[in-house]
Amino acid sequence: MILYKFYTNIYILFSIVLLMKKEKIESKEVLFRDSPPYPVEIINSEGSYLIGKDGKRYLDFMAGWCVGNAGWKKKEILNAIKNFKGPEYVLPNYIYKRWEDLATKIIDLLPKGEWTCFRATGGTEANEIALKMSRAYNKRKKFLAFKGAYHGQSIACLSLVKIPDHEEHFGKFSDDYLQINANDWENTTKEAVKIIKGGEISAFISEPIICNLGVIIPPKYFFDEIIKACKETNTLFICDEVATGFGRTGKWFGFEHYNLEPDIITIAKGFSSGYAAIGATIAKQNVAESMRFDFSNYSTFGWHPLSVEVAISNIDYIKNNKLVDKSNKNGQYLLEKLSEFCNAEGKGLCIGIKEIKKGVDLRCLKDGLIISIVEGRIVLFPPLDVSKDEIDKAVEIIRKNID
Ligand code: PMP
Repeated sequence: MILYKFYTNIYILFSIVLLMKKEKIESKEVLFRDSPPYPVEIINSEGSYLIGKDGKRYLDFMAGWCVGNAGWKKKEILNAIKNFKGPEYVLPNYIYKRWEDLATKIIDLLPKGEWTCFRATGGTEANEIALKMSRAYNKRKKFLAFKGAYHGQSIACLSLVKIPDHEEHFGKFSDDYLQINANDWENTTKEAVKIIKGGEISAFISEPIICNLGVIIPPKYFFDEIIKACKETNTLFICDEVATGFGRTGKWFGFEHYNLEPDIITIAKGFSSGYAAIGATIAKQNVAESMRFDFSNYSTFGWHPLSVEVAISNIDYIKNNKLVDKSNKNGQYLLEKLSEFCNAEGKGLCIGIKEIKKGVDLRCLKDGLIISIVEGRIVLFPPLDVSKDEIDKAVEIIRKNID
């Protein structure tokens, strides 16, 4: 009897393994997609264009969602990769001078003060470090953010913003994460100030211009009152500059539009203009001190030596080619042209168009222009050195396809 059961179990197990193998062979989805991709295979990029397998050139007004600020195929940045001599890797708890060089370069771009950098591989990790640091700093567990915005894919980052439907699939997020709406600014400001003054919030986190809600520009009084309430209650302000940083909004960082100073700044994307994967959390030194305990943070690939070279040459490239200025001027020109026929708003080359019809992204793609739709708005994030001709061409494609 026992022998019979043993053989039956072996048989069932064997059948399951065979079935799984068969399914794997039959399934074509070797790469998981949460939704179908746009029907274009990208094989290369150059300047403000992506090149499809069919040889067609697509005007890239997304730049990888605020990634390719410098534009594609810039030889100065590619040379940093070509000329890289090593070390291939440095263990995070050793000394590596180029880490210090890059940290100094970033801090030089910020308002004068005592800043310190934490190494990360991208935006989610940078924000996770910021949240951890905030908890360590004021020993509070609650956070406040804009509902439906975006700060990354970790459980904490998703809990911050409560994207519709996510709790249905991932289970309920913690009540420690509170949200305000990015509209009706007078009431939102009152509500946010009241929540912060309750004294239980560790940090308020926001993009300075909310790209992830379709480019929404909060009024200055909103940030003024938030910062005041934060200062009164020892609550931190984490400014997520992952998308808005490195000239995207016509300033080095989006917070400069408001004349305010965050306690923690997170960066990624335009930090390397997409030529390598890298991110950082930059904090005021008194805040960063709260992380001075064993194993408070670790990142195996944070500031990989090759990514560091890329980030350094990218910052130099943006400076040498006055791309922040160009973003400002090109953005004004693009906004003027769009305002002739649609409801557009933005700063620099961070632009959103309201009141659009469905399918405009696919129609534009067919005509050779890459754009995105988020929260019912078109968003446009072209490379910062996009030419006037390229802007004119993109505007004509949008004008033709918007209705
Ligand atoms: N914050 C913002 C504002 C972002 O736009 C993104 C990415 N779209 C992230 C964080 C997450 O960055 P990453 O994908 O590099 O983790």
